[in-house]
Amino acid sequence: MGSEAVKVVVRCRPLNDREKALSSKMVLSMDLQRCQCFIEKPGAADEPPKQFTFDGTYFIDQTTEQMYNEIAYPLVEGVTEGYNGTIFAYGQTGSGKSFTMQGVPEPAAQRGVIPRAFEHVFESIQCAENTKFLVRASYLEIYNEEIRDLLGSDTKQRLELKEHPERGVYVRDLSMHTVHSVGECERIIEQGWRNRAVGYTLMNKDSSRSHSIFTIHLEICSTDAAGQDHLRAGKLNLVDLAGSERQSKTGATGERLREATKINLSLSALGNVISALVDGRSKYIPYRDSKLTRLLQDSLGGNTRTLMIACLSPADNNYEETLSTLRYANRAK
Ligand code: ADP
Repeated sequence: MGSEAVKVVVRCRPLNDREKALSSKMVLSMDLQRCQCFIEKPGAADEPPKQFTFDGTYFIDQTTEQMYNEIAYPLVEGVTEGYNGTIFAYGQTGSGKSFTMQGVPEPAAQRGVIPRAFEHVFESIQCAENTKFLVRASYLEIYNEEIRDLLGSDTKQRLELKEHPERGVYVRDLSMHTVHSVGECERIIEQGWRNRAVGYTLMNKDSSRSHSIFTIHLEICSTDAAGQDHLRAGKLNLVDLAGSERQSKTGATGERLREATKINLSLSALGNVISALVDGRSKYIPYRDSKLTRLLQDSLGGNTRTLMIACLSPADNNYEETLSTLRYANRAK
């Protein structure tokens, strides 16, 4: 597989009000033409900035619309043609993952990747000739290496990962919901968000510690000139990853530390899988190292497309975490 199939972009959010009130300095800058990102170590003015190059760079003024059109559009288009695709948002908590994936309703240019993907899929369906589509959605989360259905009748039930000789890896009893419109997709994802939020309040947990995967499953039946039907299936995974901050450094203990170790483990397993795929020389891809990578096995590598959006804070007090996100993203490309 060529590295064309995996794209890594970085997106930097503006300083927030708290950072401005603290007179935080910006340590990040970008050369958008060359897709380069520079980071300066605070208090080390004589050290040259560290430099990284990606498939795309988005600075504080760039919009989700621009990012979608440039980099996500071809991936989602591929899904409507029967390929699998996965879009990840990676970064520390507060770096803009939800802003990028879910987005905000106003301004329209900052609507998220998720609602844009819904619109894109249903527009393609409406324009396709001699083709019928079945669209289904599922939504799950992985917390502490345990899988739960965010759209199921019992959101507390733990689901199992199974392997089927033909179907591959799947989640047993995961609910599938047929959807006919953008509106239905939006209602379903909002229901999942509500279930997630209620679960966290009840269990006193924190959503930035879970990975969530919203999947649009497409079955495509096209009829050729001779009246023959051709069946294809495509899948789009929209993944909001747990915050990448290194919890072990924050002095967490007990259950928190165990959670943190599992988050770090699955994020590093994902990094290892992507870098093995990009490298192209590795015969062995370590999918089995985490639930996240096992679950996404059929959508990472092979005939699929992957987009990693690494979200960055520009503030000097986040320097270490931002550098670690840049290194992670750099390895993945
Ligand atoms: P995360 O999901 O990574 O924890 P959020 O998406 O919630 O982070 O972002 C944290 C805050 O920063 C939010 O208030 C969000 O609106 C704001 N923000 C993030 N990215 C941008 C951006 N590109 N432009 C403007 N505001 C942003």
